[in-house]
Amino acid sequence: LLPADFRRRDLLIENLHALQDRFGGLFRRHLAALAEEMRLAPAEVQEVASFYAHFGLAGDGETVPGAVVRRCTGPACAMRPLDLGNLPAGVAVEDAPCMGLCDHAPAALAGKVPVRGADAAKVAAALGPAGAPAMPAEYSYPVLARCLSGELPRDAVLAELDKAGLRGMGGAGFPTARKWRSVAAQDGPRLVVVNADEGEPGTFKDRWFLETAAARVLEGALIAAWAVEADEVYLYLRDEYADLHRILRGMVAQLPGAVPVHLRRGAGAYVCGEESALIESLEGKRGYPRQRPPYVAEVGLFGRPTLVNNVETLYWVGRILAEGAELFTNEGRNGHKGLRTYSVSGRVKEPGVKIAPNGITITELIEEFCGGMEDGHVLAAYLPGGASGGFLPARLTPPLAFGAIEEHGGFIGSAAVVVFSQADDLRAAALGLARFFAHESCGQCTPCRVGTAKSVDLLARPAWDRDLLSDLADVMRDASICGLGQAAPNVWQSLLRHFPEVVK
Ligand code: SF4
Repeated sequence: LLPADFRRRDLLIENLHALQDRFGGLFRRHLAALAEEMRLAPAEVQEVASFYAHFGLAGDGETVPGAVVRRCTGPACAMRPLDLGNLPAGVAVEDAPCMGLCDHAPAALAGKVPVRGADAAKVAAALGPAGAPAMPAEYSYPVLARCLSGELPRDAVLAELDKAGLRGMGGAGFPTARKWRSVAAQDGPRLVVVNADEGEPGTFKDRWFLETAAARVLEGALIAAWAVEADEVYLYLRDEYADLHRILRGMVAQLPGAVPVHLRRGAGAYVCGEESALIESLEGKRGYPRQRPPYVAEVGLFGRPTLVNNVETLYWVGRILAEGAELFTNEGRNGHKGLRTYSVSGRVKEPGVKIAPNGITITELIEEFCGGMEDGHVLAAYLPGGASGGFLPARLTPPLAFGAIEEHGGFIGSAAVVVFSQADDLRAAALGLARFFAHESCGQCTPCRVGTAKSVDLLARPAWDRDLLSDLADVMRDASICGLGQAAPNVWQSLLRHFPEVVK
């Protein structure tokens, strides 16, 4: 039932998953036994188990639901309400944050099975036994082989990534080669972490890269480990992607090279996409973001210098090294260079992952890559960077690129573009996003814990109090520890700024 080395402290979350998978929930007697076996205080096990939304705690005499269906409340799914009125008895239905299926709204997770374009019949069918995962075709990891053989020296690899201008695609946009150099400059032993915990509402590109090109991503991770001379790689996959977990487990077991790759599951905490919270979670703890400095490049996982890269970033590493920096430098639009992966959802004819010139505008993206707006719908507003990036009105069409949205009070982040039309209620959408942040706040710092809850209260009122909301935004931006609390006010500040007619 449990992994062989299950007493390692960092395996606590994996152990909790194992218990829950086996028994359907986490019973008090099992948690007590686990604490004893792991030589942990029962409170330590309890505090971790209760932090993560996907763990269901149960008293010893209680019964747990036969199955849990999670119904997505993300911005694209909220446009297409899902009625699950007549599921079999014993099935529990929970509302849950974005599950990375925005291009197939409405979406649900039936147990661990993703249901696209969901309705009650499809969800009921998905509750049956899961089929075997389809393994991807064999891949020989040719770029890694060139690195290991000396054909591609480290300096050449870093120079090529610099030339391409590759930046972190998780949302922060830090230059990739510079990050690698700063980790490599630290005293070893070093570690590499693959951040596969995308949870920004509206973002689903990392799911797509892992579905279509997981070997490329793993190759990028192994190249990164080679480049910074890391001993081990940890891949942290969000729990909503359980279907991918089964595939990755098989692939990881057959990887070439001497660097072990460990696959770890999240447990339903959006904040763990933040790199220091992710590292805490990998250590088997609650996902509390750390105060910085020190940065994780200096003191990261298990106290070691750690390189954290996003799935998409690692995908591009291999392609740039295989095809040359021109892959990026030949592309771009409106004064910006490179390619960008946009997750487009909402009121467009063809939502999905769109690899397009970096710097494309919203109207170009919709017309050239998404088949235009849905019939009968006119572009009214959009989120350029998911829930955190704020709303923009149709009349503002800045390049969708790092640094180009800020003058309008938002940011591009992971390029989750959610398209709204005249049919959508922006106030209701903002309230939904505020609820999301309140739910996902880890509670560690007061401005965010109290501020996100307060914002839900204020946004639900018939008239918005502009002054009070702006004061709240200032406090949260100035005094929150991590990006969640700092970015949450973009939701309402963007409506106050660009849509005064909507929020009066
Ligand atoms: Fe936690 Fe919010 Fe503070 Fe971040 S800003 S550490 S999510 S309470």
